[in-house]
Amino acid sequence: FLATLAAGAMVISLAACSSGGDSGEGGGDGGLVGVAMPTKSSERWINDGNAVKEQLEAEGFTVDLQYAEDDIPMQVSQIENMITKGAKALIVASIDGTTLTSVLQDAADADIPVIAYDRLIRDTENVDYYASFDNFKVGQQQAWSLLNGLGLVELDGTPIEGAPAGPFNVELFAGSLDDNNAFFFYDGAMDVLQPLIDAKTIVVKSGQTDIEQVATLRWDGEEAQSRMENILTSTYSDGSVVNGVLSPYDGISRGIISALEGSGYAVGPEWPAISGQDAELDSVKAIVAGEQYGTIFKDTRKLAEVAVSMTLALLNGSEPEINNTTDYDNGVKVVDSYLLDSSIVIKDNITEQLVDSGYWTQAEIDG
Ligand code: BGC
Repeated sequence: FLATLAAGAMVISLAACSSGGDSGEGGGDGGLVGVAMPTKSSERWINDGNAVKEQLEAEGFTVDLQYAEDDIPMQVSQIENMITKGAKALIVASIDGTTLTSVLQDAADADIPVIAYDRLIRDTENVDYYASFDNFKVGQQQAWSLLNGLGLVELDGTPIEGAPAGPFNVELFAGSLDDNNAFFFYDGAMDVLQPLIDAKTIVVKSGQTDIEQVATLRWDGEEAQSRMENILTSTYSDGSVVNGVLSPYDGISRGIISALEGSGYAVGPEWPAISGQDAELDSVKAIVAGEQYGTIFKDTRKLAEVAVSMTLALLNGSEPEINNTTDYDNGVKVVDSYLLDSSIVIKDNITEQLVDSGYWTQAEIDG
């Protein structure tokens, strides 16, 4: 009887330490996994968080899913909390990839494996694997979608014969410089755009082409809107028009669209081609409305699958599957990675890309 009681108490106390806080309800007895996401202000991270949580719960884990409202100390303390609660593994999409060194040392001291989710965690040895997309390719796709909107290339970058010679006025935006991805996206895009800038097919009339000049802290749409407003006033008051805008993220694209509308641009033949990323619902609607030309679809459900299968492998003592061991140097080591493919969405292929794949329903897009 005593043995049974002791065993019963052990089960209860194990269960107690694997739940707690605002962890998920669906937990089995697999233990706790901490999932740290940057912000709820962007739809994609909500989709990511939900997908990771559901898939981990289906594997029997309890999940502590936290969002940090783009506040770095908040993210650090959320992760600290996960460690204290006894998390067996951490999946982290960082706000600033360089600020987690100390908390991840604590994770390492407690033998907790860490997976960097979508954004590389920098300046630490204590990140075990990286699950993401081919981010340089994402940048190239952003440029190709923009150039497709200008009639210059096919969606795969193949030049269109007899394309207009231009010159086209294009303005450039990049993401947040504390996010390693911002550099990969911009480098990929400039790999495509620089030859056209050199050939004067594309003119960056503002002259702002350095990543430091075109970056957008925390990917903030309002900041992008005011930078675009400034460019329109300072550079385009002479009657010239913007023909295209390279935007690295749908929220930034929406800011750019507001700036253009505010300064008298209207959707029609003169409206610029604008790129994006994430296939956020509002931006898919903007593509249907002709305000945004394209976006890059990165299937958050597949990324969640990669992160979850990495977690399972790590906890089972086997090797997670990887497909890249060279590209993601975090300043201390090259992090073994699994990189997924992304695709370009424009008005013509929304059904095929987003509805047929079940990412959005037609009703959501129409609603
Ligand atoms: C992600 C993008 C996202 C951006 C802003 C990047 O790290 O890879 O998908 O658009 O952050 O949230």
